[in-house]
Amino acid sequence: MAEVVLQNIMKRYGDLYAVNDVSFTVNDGEFVALVGPSGCGKTTTLNLIAGLLPITSGNISIGDRNVTRLDPKDRDIAMVFQNYALYPQKTVFQNLAFPLQMRKLPKDQIETKVKEAARVLDITHLLERRPRELSGGQQQRVALGRALVRDPLVFLMDEPLSNLDAKLRVQMRSEIKRFHHNLNATIVYVTHDQLEAVTMSDKMAVMNGGLLQQYDAPEKVFADPVNMFVASFVGSPAMSLIPLEAVTKGADTVLRSPEGWDFTLSPENARKAQRSTTVKVVLGARHSTLKLHHSAQPGTVPGKVYTVEPTGDITFAQVFISGAVVNISLDPSVHIRPDDLVHIEFDQSRIHLFDENTTMALKAD
Ligand code: ATP
Repeated sequence: MAEVVLQNIMKRYGDLYAVNDVSFTVNDGEFVALVGPSGCGKTTTLNLIAGLLPITSGNISIGDRNVTRLDPKDRDIAMVFQNYALYPQKTVFQNLAFPLQMRKLPKDQIETKVKEAARVLDITHLLERRPRELSGGQQQRVALGRALVRDPLVFLMDEPLSNLDAKLRVQMRSEIKRFHHNLNATIVYVTHDQLEAVTMSDKMAVMNGGLLQQYDAPEKVFADPVNMFVASFVGSPAMSLIPLEAVTKGADTVLRSPEGWDFTLSPENARKAQRSTTVKVVLGARHSTLKLHHSAQPGTVPGKVYTVEPTGDITFAQVFISGAVVNISLDPSVHIRPDDLVHIEFDQSRIHLFDENTTMALKAD
């Protein structure tokens, strides 16, 4: 396996920067998810690593080689796509053997490698079947097997689970994770599903509009999003964002709502708010950090319940606070109904503050 280094890579189509000055390093053996909404440039980034598209500028290296100008076949990569791309008339064995026959490997070596890949992916019993005789999950395993037999430096995967039903997706998610763990493989994995990225990857590269927004471990991205886009993209339900105004009130800094209430910030949060380029500061909070009260308490802010969604273990509620929709998770024993007036308590150590003007997270120092 090998590391992959992207340096200032750029892909332009006329005026559109599909990938705009993206740099990051995938360490040897790491699983990196490229994630972001449709059109953010993740597939283009993957295809540039694979060499399937000519690059506008920048450099890509795999292991100790600069591969920027190399053909895909010379980059020592293997790709897995969402549509499996299996040969329908060949058996599973022949599908797995094909890339090795193309490389003119001796027959006995081909057989050994195919059997080993089939063992790792638990498809030995399927070797004589044809793709149409397999389930979606089995076909996806064969597609993984075909990448595996090539023993590449890097696996590149483009939404490999998106054709599977919800249950199978979750199962194959664990299998690909296990595949990564067993092989210590370097994997770059494209998905639009933030949950897939968070659960599977060592690091996630969050993209938007061709730009890399944040590159970090999922827990870091979740706990410390760099800007409002990342804050609202990662996590489900999304982080709630409430636009307010930072105002000095005596010795305190408060966030003031147009509805007339003030939320007094802790000294550390006050320092953050003071760093905003304008008075417009956005208060961010994840559903699990909020507490709901039926009457006003010191430090709470008023809201009105919009919807209540019981899911069994947890009840999700949406509450309007200062015109913004705020997601809250509640114990199912809490009884609230739409239009109830409630009071919400924020945990000052777990709120996020953003500069509404730049959209960037505000830091205390
Ligand atoms: P999706 O999740 O929908 O596949 P993506 O994040 O993978 O989206 P890309 O396929 O990388 O997005 O596309 C990035 C941007 O580049 C999009 O705005 C897309 O319309 C544009 N684009 C891609 N290929 C071309 C092309 N051949 N010519 C012009 N624009 C293109």
